[in-house]
Amino acid sequence: MTQKPIRTDADLAINGAPPALDFPVHVGRPNVADRDKFMWLVDDILDRNWLTNNGPMVCELERRIADYLGVKHCVAMCNGTIALEIAIRAVGMSGEVIVPSYTFIATAHAVSWQGLRPVFVDVSAQDHCIDPEAVRRAITPRTTGIVGTHLWGGTCDVEALRDIARENNLKLVFDAAHAFGCSHNGQRVGGFGDAEVFSFHATKFFNSIEGGAVTTNDDALAEQMRLMRNFGFSGPDTVSHPGTNGKMTEINAAMGLANLDAISSVMDVNKARHAAYAAALDGIPGLHLMPVKAEEERNHQYVVLEVDAAFPYSRDELLETLTAENILARKYFWPGCHRMEPYRSLQPNAGRKLPVTEELAERIVVLPTGPNLPEEAINVVGDVCQLLSRRAAGTALSDNKLRLRNVS
Ligand SMILES: *Cc1c(COP(=O)(O)O)cnc(C)c1O
Repeated sequence: MTQKPIRTDADLAINGAPPALDFPVHVGRPNVADRDKFMWLVDDILDRNWLTNNGPMVCELERRIADYLGVKHCVAMCNGTIALEIAIRAVGMSGEVIVPSYTFIATAHAVSWQGLRPVFVDVSAQDHCIDPEAVRRAITPRTTGIVGTHLWGGTCDVEALRDIARENNLKLVFDAAHAFGCSHNGQRVGGFGDAEVFSFHATKFFNSIEGGAVTTNDDALAEQMRLMRNFGFSGPDTVSHPGTNGKMTEINAAMGLANLDAISSVMDVNKARHAAYAAALDGIPGLHLMPVKAEEERNHQYVVLEVDAAFPYSRDELLETLTAENILARKYFWPGCHRMEPYRSLQPNAGRKLPVTEELAERIVVLPTGPNLPEEAINVVGDVCQLLSRRAAGTALSDNKLRLRNVS
C-alpha cells in the first residue's frame, strides 16, 4: 500500500480524495499470537474429548496466569462481566456500591445485575481513575463496597482506596480489564484489594476470544468463586452454594495459552506504536497524548488522545476526518455510564457531581494500535492532525466545493 500524502485540504477523504488506507482499521483488533499452537491445542482438546468443566487447559491457564501475575489464585471465567458479578457477590457487597462513571458499562451493570445500587463518583483528571476523595464523600450507611477500574492500564490509587475501605469496613474490588500485565509500584496488578477482575475478550491486550478471570490471595474467597462459577456443585450430586454458569471452555483456554507466550512481544510492539504516535502528534496545540508512567510496566493497549479547546476542531470533527481515511478511532466511555440506561432515568442528576467525567467523555479519542496496525496508519493520523491544526478555528471542516467538484 502506498500512502497518499496529506498536505492540503484536497488530500483529505472528507473532501472527496480516496481514503488513506484501503481497508478500515479498528480499535481493538484482536492480537492473535500463534495460530499453529492454537490449532495444535484444539486438536489435543478434541482428541481428549474434554471440552469444558474445569479441563486441563483451563487449569494450566489458571496456573500460568497466577504465576505471571504473582497472585495465589486465578479463577478463570467465561467472560469479564460474569467474573465481575461473581466477585462482587462473593465478597459480599450489598446495598450501595461506589463505582466510577467513566468506565465500560459492564462495571456498573455487574453491580446492578446483583440487585445493588451503583453510586457513581468522579475520576481524577490526571489518570482518569476513580477519585479517592470523591469516594469518601459518597459513603453512606448503606455503602458496602468500592469497585475501581484501572483505566487504560494505568492503576487506581490503590493505597488510598485500601485505606478508605479499611476505615469504613468496605469491600474493595478492582476492574482490571484494561490492566493485564501492568504494574503498580512495581507489583503486577492481580493481588490488590479483595479481588481483581480481568477480561480476556478479543479486543483486550491478552485474549482468549471470550473469557475472564478473578484473581485473589484469599483462599476461602477463591474456593467460593470456584463453586459459584459451576452452579455451586461441590461434588457430582452435591450443591453446596448458590451459583451460576461462569465456566471457561477448553477452546477459550487454548487460545489463552497460545497468546500468553507472546504477551511480552505484543507489549513491545504496542510500546513502539505508542512512541510513534507521540512523535507524530508532538507539539500540536490542543492535542495531548495521555502520558504513560515509564517506571511502571504498561501494556499500551489504549492510545488515548485528549482534544482540548486549543485545537481548531472538536473531538467529533477529528473523528469524522479520521474515519473518512479508514482510521476508525473511537470515543471512549461516551457519554459516561450515568448517562446510559437504566442509570440515566434512575439518577437523572448524577452528572452534577461528575464534572471531570462529563468533560473527558467529550474530549477523549482512542486510536487504533497493536501488532496488526499498518505502520502507515500512524503517519496518517499525524498528517491529518497537523493539517487540521494549521487551519483557523471556525473554518468549515470539509470544503464542500471540493466535494462537489469530485462528485461531478
Ligand atoms: C471489557 C471490559 C469489561 C467486560 O469484559 P467482558 O469480557 O467483555 O465481559 C469490563 N470492564 C472493563 C473496564 C472492560 O474494558
